[in-house]
Amino acid sequence: MNHSRSNKLFEQAQRFIPGGVNSPVRAFKQVGGTPVFFKSAKGAYLFDEDGNSYIDLMNSWGPMILGHANPEVTNAISENLQHSTSFGAPTALEVEMAELIVSMVPNVDMVRMVSSGTEACMTAIRLARGYTGKNKIIKFEGCYHGHSDALLAKAGSGVATLNIQQVPGIPSAVLVDTITLPYNDANAVAEVFEKHKNEIAAVIVEPVAGNMGCVIPANNFLETLRSLCDANNTVLIFDEVMTGFRLAPGGVQELFGVKADLVTYGKVIGGGMPVGAIGGHTDIMNHLAPVGKVYQAGTLSGNPVAMIAGYTTLSILKQHPEYYTQLNTVTSGLAEELRKLGRKFNVPVTVNQVGSMISLHFTDKPVCNFTDAAAANNELFKQYFHHMLDAGIYLPPSPFESWFVSVAITEKEVEKVLSETEKFFASL
Ligand SMILES: *Cc1c(COP(=O)(O)O)cnc(C)c1O
Repeated sequence: MNHSRSNKLFEQAQRFIPGGVNSPVRAFKQVGGTPVFFKSAKGAYLFDEDGNSYIDLMNSWGPMILGHANPEVTNAISENLQHSTSFGAPTALEVEMAELIVSMVPNVDMVRMVSSGTEACMTAIRLARGYTGKNKIIKFEGCYHGHSDALLAKAGSGVATLNIQQVPGIPSAVLVDTITLPYNDANAVAEVFEKHKNEIAAVIVEPVAGNMGCVIPANNFLETLRSLCDANNTVLIFDEVMTGFRLAPGGVQELFGVKADLVTYGKVIGGGMPVGAIGGHTDIMNHLAPVGKVYQAGTLSGNPVAMIAGYTTLSILKQHPEYYTQLNTVTSGLAEELRKLGRKFNVPVTVNQVGSMISLHFTDKPVCNFTDAAAANNELFKQYFHHMLDAGIYLPPSPFESWFVSVAITEKEVEKVLSETEKFFASL
């Protein structure tokens, strides 16, 4: 496959952009080689600057659940563009967007829109602290909640990919109130609540984790977090930036029937535009300014172009509940066949999958937390990634990321992913 234009662009990019990329994990550091520069995409396929095409199993890290350039979404954006790209003042569309979200998600009365998942999680933490009057927060190793200071401890995803243990520029004083525990270890959480009575403002968790590969919550893990938070007047925050509107219209709250006090959204909610949101019950949400004193703001929050992209995407998902069945059938089929190939060629693989989130780990052990994900043969993942890339299949460029299936991916694309995986396994 010829990548001469991508290679040239990457050289140029490194002169003008740190590392040549505007988000670190795009740089292929974990898998080696030169990042591919993309020009366009349609449905299940990406097209790069050299004219190569790829089946997309990254889908912009999650947002493109409908596939690329869905005509309903792109038409809605074009039509709205005529009416200006920003007001910095209220619009009807924001009200419709908030109502639509509330109609899809259980347990959410109100939403505040922001422009990224990072902002949503940062605001949720501030709101939980302001609401409870307490300072400490519990997060889990390998869970990523955006790049705000207090949440960038053992944060999986990009920091794990780049093997950054501690981030220079974050004063240790900012992290003293962040307690990090292993994912799926409910006993560790109970012990911390015991040790820090009346000090824990919030527990924040990816209710299905996607930033250490895909990791599924163990039986009763989320339920135990719920009851510990209830018993200690602590705010339970589900970070559904990846899972929201993806695993079910109502996210993991709906899928597993566990209620959160605050929920953060991003990715799918913006339909490919920069959008995030915080949702919750009125009594907590009304602590946000201007009703309450927990200040939070954004010049471009609720931006009309971003809102129409998100609104149209969510409307389509609401009108097509069968998409969720399709996504789960396609993705669980892919998972089962990948496991079979592992057995057939004696390659130790663990495949984790929930709905349209899936990850393949080169290990014979279960992957239930970050330590398990890190212990897999991630050198082999590198080779697998490049085999797939050369064959025209774009996986997320790190073993610490989940793959995302879109509704545009059909049996034909799955067949190709499986036949190329088979070739790779056979070559080992
Ligand atoms: C992507 C992600 C974020 C950060 O969202 P950005 O829009 O990249 O700031 C936060 N939490 C989770 C679970 C994510 O996957």
